[in-house]
Amino acid sequence: MRAMVMERQGGALELRELPIPQPSAGELLLKVAACGICRTDLHVVDGELTEPKLPLIPGHQIVGVVEALGEGVAGFRPGDRVGVPWLGGTCGECDYCTSGRENLCDRALFTGYQKNGGFADYCTADSRFCFPLPAGYPDTQAAPLLCAGLIGYRSLRIAGPGKRLGIYGFGAAAHIVTQVATWQGREVYGFTRPGDTAGQAFAREMGACWAGGSFDAPPLPLDAAIIFAPAGELVPAALRAVGKGGIVVCGGIHMSDIPSFPYDILWGERSIVSVANLTRRDGEEFLKLAPQVPVRTEVHLFPLEQANEALAALREGRIRGAGVLVP
Ligand SMILES: [Zn+2]
Ligand SMILES: [Zn+2]
Repeated sequence: MRAMVMERQGGALELRELPIPQPSAGELLLKVAACGICRTDLHVVDGELTEPKLPLIPGHQIVGVVEALGEGVAGFRPGDRVGVPWLGGTCGECDYCTSGRENLCDRALFTGYQKNGGFADYCTADSRFCFPLPAGYPDTQAAPLLCAGLIGYRSLRIAGPGKRLGIYGFGAAAHIVTQVATWQGREVYGFTRPGDTAGQAFAREMGACWAGGSFDAPPLPLDAAIIFAPAGELVPAALRAVGKGGIVVCGGIHMSDIPSFPYDILWGERSIVSVANLTRRDGEEFLKLAPQVPVRTEVHLFPLEQANEALAALREGRIRGAGVLVP
């Protein structure tokens, strides 16, 4: 099979011919139909996340078709279409795992980071962490639901029920969350890099009632804000944009340092919280909700062997919506 392989962090992925992996007990062998690219892949490739397995096949928004079953797999058959998310395995027995917070498990394994992912023709995955996918989504449009959608949904839930929601960084997750939030009857305020008029127009197209630059004040104080861009200076900006009792949710896995800020902008019971990974329950809930909205994903397709070009386009903010690799 072909695979895009990371030998070391900080370099380009290399196209390799590798043997098709064999599924171990409990695993599925999947023929990859599409794999979304995510900012987390950039953090892995660029070295901001420091514990990858090496060599590594990245990619954690995998839509695949079951080719073969490892020993003891129940509930799947060859030919089934499944989704593989970032959470690739947990210990199942720690305090986090047994209290509905498996996203925080210290022994969790992440797809395309500690396990090979979907930048390849085939991959294996622990069947207990794979999701059936809703019908009605072509493979390429289903792929971004698996991280942009899932982490976006978890961020939205943690942002609480407030009506006026700000979203900082208008990429793949934001374009999905905006559709869900407006369907729930909320107002979405989209914040992009200052001067990014194309990004602001995209936010309005997705349903935002207002769009502006990251450091602009919204017309009214917000109830909550979600930050998807990995820029620490957005935290004080978002604190200034939310009203008393407002919550600022950091939805990314990595962020540059947060500059110091006056206590004034946190005072009034404002809070800051991060969102880490996902639970399988998030996946089940969101994949049921997405077709009801219905969430439509805007995708930009790249052939598998152009993974480096796709990651560069994401890094430079040139992808409208979500980027997806197709074998
Ligand atoms: Zn655990
Ligand atoms: Zn991701």
